[in-house]
Amino acid sequence: MNLIDIGANLTHDSFDHDRDAVLQRARAAGVAKMIVTGASREHSPKALALAQAHPGELFATAGVHPHHAVEYTDECDAEMRALHAHPEVVAVGECGLDFFRDFSPRPAQRKAFERQLQLASDLAVDGMGKPLFLHQRDAHADFMAMMKNFDGRVGPAVVHCFTGSRAELFDYLDHDWHIGITGWLCDERRGLHLRELVKHIPANRLMIETDAPYLLPRSVKPQPSHRRNEPMYLAHIVEELARDRGEDVTTTAANTADAARAFFRLD
Ligand SMILES: [Zn+2]
Repeated sequence: MNLIDIGANLTHDSFDHDRDAVLQRARAAGVAKMIVTGASREHSPKALALAQAHPGELFATAGVHPHHAVEYTDECDAEMRALHAHPEVVAVGECGLDFFRDFSPRPAQRKAFERQLQLASDLAVDGMGKPLFLHQRDAHADFMAMMKNFDGRVGPAVVHCFTGSRAELFDYLDHDWHIGITGWLCDERRGLHLRELVKHIPANRLMIETDAPYLLPRSVKPQPSHRRNEPMYLAHIVEELARDRGEDVTTTAANTADAARAFFRLD
């Protein structure tokens, strides 16, 4: 298998002591490429550095997650624009809205999201358009309204780590957006509804991700004692996803990788 993990937080401190071993285990498990999520002022430059150190294997996004929205000053905006001048940075985000945790006040979240949508729109005008890597939790209506303001001005979009309802999924699909599926699917307590919903995602708009070090799939046996998720578990996620879609795992693996290569323009 040549899997592509479209969301791995490989700059996270929990990987500092063994990052090379983590990458080695990912390769051995068939993960050929990984998109390193940039989700803050501190970590977006680190994601770029990691991508530059592993050309053709690691790529980066640059953005500010809603949890960090209060960081999004003019200076931060200039830093993000500088990061997007690099070809290794393949998407704008992680950005969006998270009203579940509310780690940043909602007005700050809206402002940071708006500014990153504006950044994506400006890149598109300059002929350097990049896709959007989006986060939405418990903020669907506001999220859709803000995206509507940029209709036709921003590139393709992926709603990463989709965990929402059927209505939310069909709203996204109606807008031709892509969907990222994580090991949330493997959570027998809160992911059961996804088992049925994933059948409705067209193959060319479905991508897979671990969101490592978060969201260790609960059906991985045995569970590692440290509870840290790693890109190697993408192989487990794609097996479960294929079963739910009634597909052969090699088909789901190939289609999700093709979708990721086209979406992030990795070739
Ligand atoms: Zn997220």
